[in-house]
Amino acid sequence: MLNIALFGPPGAGKGTQSEFLIKKYNLYYISTGGLLRKELADKSKLGLEAQSIIASGGLVSDEIIVQIMEKTITENPDANGFLFDGFPRTYIQAYILEGLMIKLNTSLTCLISLNVPEEESVSRLLKRGETSGRLDDNETVIRNRLKEYNEKTLPVLEFYKERGMFFEVNGLDTIENVNFEITKIIKHQLRNKLFNIVLFGYPGSGRGSQGKSLAKKFELEYVATGPMLDKEIAQGTPIGNKIRVLYENGQLVPDEIVVQLIEKKLINSKDVKGFIFKGFPRTLVQSYILDGLLKKHGASISKIIEIEVPPLELISRLDERSKTENCMPYDNSTSKIVKRLQEHETKTVPVITKYNQLHEVIKINGMGPFDEVFARISFEIETGIRLMR
Ligand code: AMP
Repeated sequence: MLNIALFGPPGAGKGTQSEFLIKKYNLYYISTGGLLRKELADKSKLGLEAQSIIASGGLVSDEIIVQIMEKTITENPDANGFLFDGFPRTYIQAYILEGLMIKLNTSLTCLISLNVPEEESVSRLLKRGETSGRLDDNETVIRNRLKEYNEKTLPVLEFYKERGMFFEVNGLDTIENVNFEITKIIKHQLRNKLFNIVLFGYPGSGRGSQGKSLAKKFELEYVATGPMLDKEIAQGTPIGNKIRVLYENGQLVPDEIVVQLIEKKLINSKDVKGFIFKGFPRTLVQSYILDGLLKKHGASISKIIEIEVPPLELISRLDERSKTENCMPYDNSTSKIVKRLQEHETKTVPVITKYNQLHEVIKINGMGPFDEVFARISFEIETGIRLMR
């Protein structure tokens, strides 16, 4: 989930920017001011309680705000994310927002503040008042709203600064430029929220076929180093030509080359929700490389999954495959199959052991029909995504 709080004095342009953001990111828009005005129009108990405070430009009590927020949020549990306009407006409301997000198993992504000087706010609101029909868009009330903002709302920023969730934009810039700056911040935040999976398993465990299908289902970029190397050779790129020479001489492709290809993939994959790595990291060295690469791009490993299949079943699957047209050159004899299994055992199993100490490696039973294994892995990924966002 992408949850953004738009912050700024009255008249900073939060409403205008919200219109564009909710469309672009498919967010559910929550304006506490708008919700209160609706309660007022409906003449509800809450609305009537809030009426005189709104009319004077004061802040409605946190109790009232909790009630309307809780109602709105719990009525929309399947939202793709929320955009908060005019909330949180007090330090207490910042805690309330944390609690509401926890209730939905998610968290606030960031708070973006639109900075506008006081006099600009006043003149914008007076202008809006000519057509808005809002009783609180007149100078006396506007001045009081700004006083409340300075005294009660500005301290909220400390809450988010302390947590590294605060970003600011010059609200005096054109609407388009403010749009652009906000989008830039969100893009960066989304990078931090990439869901990155490392998929382990012995050759023959189904990593490749599961990995590709999982990538499709969860809109992840599938990163398999083997096919990436083959593609470079096929395209005759400078890296591809180097790899070809190495292959021809029966040498291993050095990590420097693999790293370049993975980094290219990380940079060039736009609008993905994360990455699924298969066949990398294969060695302890590569596991450190992956951690470093992800960190460099503001991301990290979200979930490590190992598909478990007993050795005899692996051998029988690889042997079966060697008789089909999907036969890989490295599967075409028993001795090659055994060598690959041994490679995994000596080089990759220590990587899994290392990860098991740092993160949790989720073991999935790889026996049974493809769809059943797929459902088991999907369940783990869905849980992980829900907890993360
Ligand atoms: P707005 O539409 O955001 O300018 O809000 C209009 C009025 O509604 C404010 O001046 C407050 O009286 C009230 N209000 C809106 N949001 C809140 C909030 N989060 N906390 C307290 N009062 C609020």
